[in-house]
Amino acid sequence: MKILIGQKNCLKKYSKYMKKKIQLSNSEKKALNELKSLSIQIKKYNDAYHKYDKPIISDHKFDELIKKNNELEKKFPYLRLKTSPNEYVGSKVLNKFSKINHKLPMLSLGNAFNENDLIEFIKRIKKFLKNEKIILEFSCEPKIDGLSINLTYKEGVLISAATRGDGLIGENVTENIKTIKNIPQKINTNNFPSLIEIRGEIFLEKKDFILLNSKLDDKEKFSNPRNAAAGSIRQLDINITKARPLKFVTHGVGFISKEYLSLKKLYNDMSLWGFAPSKYLKFSTKLKEMLRYHSDLNLKRSLINYDIDGIVFKLNDIELQKRLGFVGKNPRWAIAYKFESVKAFTKINSIDLQIGRTGAITPVARLEPVNIGGVVVSNATLHNFDEINNKDIRENDIVEIQRAGDVIPQILRVSKKLSKRNKAYKHPVNCPICDSILIKDEDGVIYRCLNYYKCKAQIIERLIHFVSKKAFNIDGMGEQQIKLFWNRKFIKNASDIFNIDKFKNEIIELEGWGKLSYNNLINNIEKSKSINIEKFIYALGIRFVGETTSQILSKYFDSIESLIKSAKNIKELEDIDGLGPKVIKSISEFIDNKDNIDEIRKIASNCQVIKRKEKFTKSIFNNKTVIFTGKLNEMSREEAKKRALDLGAKIASSISKNTDYLIYGENAGSKLNKAKELKISTLSEKKWLSMI
Ligand SMILES: [Zn+2]
Repeated sequence: MKILIGQKNCLKKYSKYMKKKIQLSNSEKKALNELKSLSIQIKKYNDAYHKYDKPIISDHKFDELIKKNNELEKKFPYLRLKTSPNEYVGSKVLNKFSKINHKLPMLSLGNAFNENDLIEFIKRIKKFLKNEKIILEFSCEPKIDGLSINLTYKEGVLISAATRGDGLIGENVTENIKTIKNIPQKINTNNFPSLIEIRGEIFLEKKDFILLNSKLDDKEKFSNPRNAAAGSIRQLDINITKARPLKFVTHGVGFISKEYLSLKKLYNDMSLWGFAPSKYLKFSTKLKEMLRYHSDLNLKRSLINYDIDGIVFKLNDIELQKRLGFVGKNPRWAIAYKFESVKAFTKINSIDLQIGRTGAITPVARLEPVNIGGVVVSNATLHNFDEINNKDIRENDIVEIQRAGDVIPQILRVSKKLSKRNKAYKHPVNCPICDSILIKDEDGVIYRCLNYYKCKAQIIERLIHFVSKKAFNIDGMGEQQIKLFWNRKFIKNASDIFNIDKFKNEIIELEGWGKLSYNNLINNIEKSKSINIEKFIYALGIRFVGETTSQILSKYFDSIESLIKSAKNIKELEDIDGLGPKVIKSISEFIDNKDNIDEIRKIASNCQVIKRKEKFTKSIFNNKTVIFTGKLNEMSREEAKKRALDLGAKIASSISKNTDYLIYGENAGSKLNKAKELKISTLSEKKWLSMI
């Protein structure tokens, strides 16, 4: 037991008490009982929060209990219990995990949902490689539904383990990972790379999942093995992780300081190093075989002792993988062919309307909760009102629901036999929040509230978007907090978030808050202020400007001011490769509005906006603006663009005085003439190939 510093004068009394040589007074007895009760309560609440990620008491109330406990311990130090919260509440328990940068990003795979998607995937590869006849070999392995992990080994020693996180930065769970028996901490073989990131999945076997859940209270139970694995790894108390029979299976590498030509050879070596890939791993060059592999494992699924949700196919040839690279966040050379989702019947209790940040109205079915494949489902998306009409969906209907992966469940059909039918559903005429008349989009499917700047629902959705993970990523600020602060008039615009400390006292007094929560929030807001320009652009919530477009824009504008200026000169936006007319119109309309500009500047003045790191290459094309035109013979247009980007170039779509090089293939038309007129360097395909 620890003795609090500065209270050594109590030592005598304390040791006498411990030896039961002194009699406790009534007030001391009362204090002791209270301390006992507090320690039990605090432990329960602390566990709920940290072990199970399910708080059952507000931070404020928790703070009060801690305060009470500390007051008593201060008054009667010799009564401090072995189970005192101060033995564990403190830096260790309250600290979150530290962060780790992955050496190479942990990207996600594109999905295939049917045979045709897989065929298209292979076609796309051949088209990119401009080689229809090439024989491609793929690895086939089951996709385990677990927690992705990145293990870094340096000189044969496990130096860190991190969760996927946002793909670039994960949580440091090294100590927890070390408790997993089939993850080697040291590798002594000669040919082990000096630096390597081993990627794989942490999972629980089905029987272990059921056993674990049977020991937990209803409130603590995990909805599926994946959550259980994640919950078991993200434990600040390593002993809990240790007690859970977690397993690891590898499915590849990130950074590796050694060249491999094929996945086959890599997997082979990995097995020798002690990282066994799936025992179902196979290689195939035939589509038929790959499809059979998929259907075979789908049938065997219930017999395999862990959850799998599809098959991953990866190109075996690593040189080709490098050529293909990535599109957005997904590699072009791998795909996850998902198993068919799970279905169930349930009742629609009501059809609610959701209003998005751009005013789109989406109907949502509130369902009688139903367990589909281990997950309790209580909402299903209805996409739009046409879908309701086409499927003739009505409130109170019994419907068949389908759930696929993490996607919001869908309604497949109405069972007219089982349903007692209500009146047909009528789509709304007015916005349910601001009462504006709803207008159908040009595509004739989506209804929209056009009251963009005044509709409360849209404003709040935009604020939620602003703080969300892919935008400013303010931990502890989500839908609930935004709504609360908005209703209390603490925030009106996004920029107000950075001045929330004006309401310090009011926030601390709020139900469920307190000093600790307030300070955490302020710290998190402070952290968010240093932000990459692409996330800043994304956070603005401009219609059609998602992650990919924000990334594209960030390559062309190195400051928020230069983006603002571009709206006055649409030509500049039109020159950027990858922006369509709808996007350009939306951006320029948004920035043409004075209130928007003021708000953008206010936000920017509170932040440190980080320029995109220029990729520096020694290539002549580094930082040059390049345009391709005409038909290329040696390389697909897509691969040519990728190569240019890899060399640090920017790709434009129309010629201007800012263009540095025009690379032309066969039948190059007006662009080539215009380039010559403007005295821009032109390169034939052959010349270009000789330069890269
Ligand atoms: Zn509205």
